[in-house]
Amino acid sequence: EEEEGEGEEYLFKVVIIGDSAVGKSNLLSRYARNEFNPHSKATIGVEFQTQSMDIDGKEVKAQIWDTAGQERFRAVTSAYYRGAFGTLLVYDISRRSSFDSIARWLDELNTHSDTTIVRMLVGNKCDLETLREVSIEEGKALAEAEGLFFIETSALDSTNVKTAFEIVIKEIYNNVS
Ligand code: GDP
Ligand code: MG
Repeated sequence: EEEEGEGEEYLFKVVIIGDSAVGKSNLLSRYARNEFNPHSKATIGVEFQTQSMDIDGKEVKAQIWDTAGQERFRAVTSAYYRGAFGTLLVYDISRRSSFDSIARWLDELNTHSDTTIVRMLVGNKCDLETLREVSIEEGKALAEAEGLFFIETSALDSTNVKTAFEIVIKEIYNNVS
């Protein structure tokens, strides 16, 4: 909404995608509420959470959408992607199949997003080092090949969670301002 005389306001939609159980809902709950749920059920998903951050003295809001489990049925709809300015493409570093799926998620994203969407490849569960199936180098290489930002995170111990979201939000802001 525009209010004359008030400073510019920014609200960006960001969507989280990736295979079931890679930690999408926990990344969002860690970022938005500093909560982690070891037994999270897909059905308890919320539609989106709004988070504010300060950039150059301006309040920038991100409306961050979670799939609420539709990805299990390959039924993430075009409405989910509509109007998104950024995305976190999440895999689980301890499950190679979730990394192999990123290509399919990228295809789906390209089908549904018309704008230049900011894309961050996220290797989650980096706390599970002993169970690692995807190396950091592989993540970086895919990100470079596809023109994505890249980061490894842990929703469990909070590593890089805030950073992952904030890089995306700042990049969107830089692109539009
Ligand atoms: P989603 O289906 O992608 O939304 O995944 P969830 O957020 O529901 O997480 C799936 C499972 O992985 C749950 O048991 C979580 O507790 C667990 N999980 C999520 N993030 C992490 C993480 O960073 N590290 C570890 N060790 N487990 C995680
Ligand atoms: Mg979920």
